[in-house]
Amino acid sequence: MVDNYGRLIEYMRVSVTDRCDLRCRYCMPDGCEKVSMSQILTFEEIVRICRAASELGINRIKITGGEPFVRLGCIDLIKEIKAIDGIEEVTVTTNGQTLDRYIDELREIGIDGINISLDTLDPDRFEYITGRGKLDKTLRSVELAAGSGIKTKINTLLQKDFNEDEVYDIAALAFRYGIDVRFIEMMPVGAADAGTVVSNPEVLQKLIERWPDLEPDPSIHGNGPAVYYKRPGTKGCIGLISAMHGKFCDYCNRVRLTSQGQLKPCLSFDTGTDLRPYLSRTDDELKDAIRKAILEKPESHCFSNPDIAGDHAEHRLMSQIGG
Ligand code: SAM
Ligand code: SF4
Repeated sequence: MVDNYGRLIEYMRVSVTDRCDLRCRYCMPDGCEKVSMSQILTFEEIVRICRAASELGINRIKITGGEPFVRLGCIDLIKEIKAIDGIEEVTVTTNGQTLDRYIDELREIGIDGINISLDTLDPDRFEYITGRGKLDKTLRSVELAAGSGIKTKINTLLQKDFNEDEVYDIAALAFRYGIDVRFIEMMPVGAADAGTVVSNPEVLQKLIERWPDLEPDPSIHGNGPAVYYKRPGTKGCIGLISAMHGKFCDYCNRVRLTSQGQLKPCLSFDTGTDLRPYLSRTDDELKDAIRKAILEKPESHCFSNPDIAGDHAEHRLMSQIGG
C-alpha cells in the first residue's frame, strides 16, 4: 500500500528472535534482555501477520533477528512464509556462524537470498568486534552460499580506526565470489557509536582510486536503498547503503516487525503498533492495525536531528529491532 507520503510500502523485515550467538560491539555488546517465549510471537502468529501484510501489498520479507538461526525451526517458518500468496521473495540475514548446517535446506526450500554480515577478514579483529565469533566459520558460509547458487550478499559496517583499512580486501570479495558486497553506514542506534561512522562518499572515492573502471550499476539488486557499482567483466557488485550521508527516506519502502509483535514504521523512532492484541481478532481488524502503522510512517528518520523524536527516539538495541 501507499503511505501518507506517496511511498509504496512492499517490504517487511521480520525479526524472529532478539537472541544471538554473537555479541557485536555496536549491536548487543552485553547480551540481550531475557524475554520469555510467551512474549515472542509464535511462528503461527508471524505467518498470520505476513499473510495479512501480503494482502496489503507487502511482497518481500526479510527474516532477521538477533540471529535468526538460533531460533529452532527457522527454516520451517521461512518455508511457510514462502508459501503465502502474494509473497514473491523471502530472504534471510545472518552472521554466518552456523549457516553451513542450513544451507542445503535453504536451497531446497528456494530461499531467494542470503545476506551475511562480515566486518573484517582478520581473525583477531573478528573475535573482537563480534565478542566471540570465529572468522573461519563466517568465511566458510560465504563460500558455501556463493557456491550454492543462492543470491548472496555480504554486509559490512566500516568503523574509523578499526576496519577502515580493509575496505579494498572486503570489496574484492565481490569480484572473487561474484556476489554483492555492501558497505552500510553505521547508524546511531542502540550501542553504536556514531562517532566511528565511515562515510560512504569517502568509501566510494577510495574504491574509484583503486578501481578506476568502477561504474554505476543501474540494475535492481534487492529490496533496498543500496546504490551499486560494478567493474566491466566482473560479476559481483559493490553496494553502498548510506543512511547517514545519503538519506533515502523519500524512497523508503519498508516496515519492521519485532519479535515481540510491534510493527515499526521507522528505524529511528520507538513508535509503532503492537499487533499482539489484534491476533485474537478478525483478519480485517489485524489488517486495519497494519494499515494504521503504515500510515503513521514518518516522512524521514531523525538520526541527524534526534530532538524531533522528543520522547520517541529509538533506544532499543539493533538486535531487538532486526537491523
Ligand atoms: N544477526 C544477523 C546479522 O548479523 O546479519 C541479523 C541481525 S543484525 C541486527 C542485521 C544487520 O544489522 C547486520 O548486518 C548488522 O551489521 C547491522 N547493524 C547492527 N547495528 C547496526 C548499526 N548501528 N548501524 C547499521 N547497521 C547495523
Ligand atoms: Fe548478533 Fe547480528 Fe547483532 Fe552481531 S549484528 S550481535 S550477529 S544480531
